[in-house]
Amino acid sequence: MLLLPLLPLSAAAAAWAVRGRSSQVFAPSVWRGPSSRRAVALTFDDGPSERTPELLELLARHGAAATFFQCGQNAARLPDLARAVARAGHAIGNHTYSHPGLWLRSAAFIDDEVGRAQRALTEIHSVAPHLFRAPYGVRWPGLAAAQRNHGLTSVMWSTMGRDWMAPAEEIARRLDRGTRPGAIFCLHDGRVLTPNPDLAPLLAALRTALPRWRDAGYEFLTVPALLWGKL
Ligand SMILES: [Zn+2]
Repeated sequence: MLLLPLLPLSAAAAAWAVRGRSSQVFAPSVWRGPSSRRAVALTFDDGPSERTPELLELLARHGAAATFFQCGQNAARLPDLARAVARAGHAIGNHTYSHPGLWLRSAAFIDDEVGRAQRALTEIHSVAPHLFRAPYGVRWPGLAAAQRNHGLTSVMWSTMGRDWMAPAEEIARRLDRGTRPGAIFCLHDGRVLTPNPDLAPLLAALRTALPRWRDAGYEFLTVPALLWGKL
């Protein structure tokens, strides 16, 4: 039953429909900002984690605002850290409660995961997020309705850092290659629900990328600021 929407599509087309960064098949999503402004958006998923403060310190040193797609379960485990991210001037988005892949899931399951995260994050931050990022970038039937129900805009990315597995040099190369006005970079300050992840390769890559971006005249904007000019 759940596979029915994909039957008319080839395997490649089906994979793109579900995970393609610019796919709008199952849920409307944005994946890049306007190219008219020399600005990029750094986004960090799967947090907060015990290592998030090191990233916050690095971003602050370079005056960089970013967007953090927090898992409800991680924010509930580390509410003070979740709030520290927002207090530092970064935007907060919903990354589901427990980070399940949404493919083959029912509409009710998807709405429950998105809604539980929305309730947890709203309680912790005293404001409801309006941005959403799907775990693993998987959009599935039912997600569009869940986004509407909870007032969320889905944000994909123009460049994936693969920072959870790549060495610092490769992450830095990916950041470099993806640099253009309006770029949205997908990076991570957590590892799904695992406590205390190793962010050293990401932090090393950002230590070289942040000054290079700044020297090249790029601004670091939150996703709402990049897309809609909101601070
Ligand atoms: Zn994730």
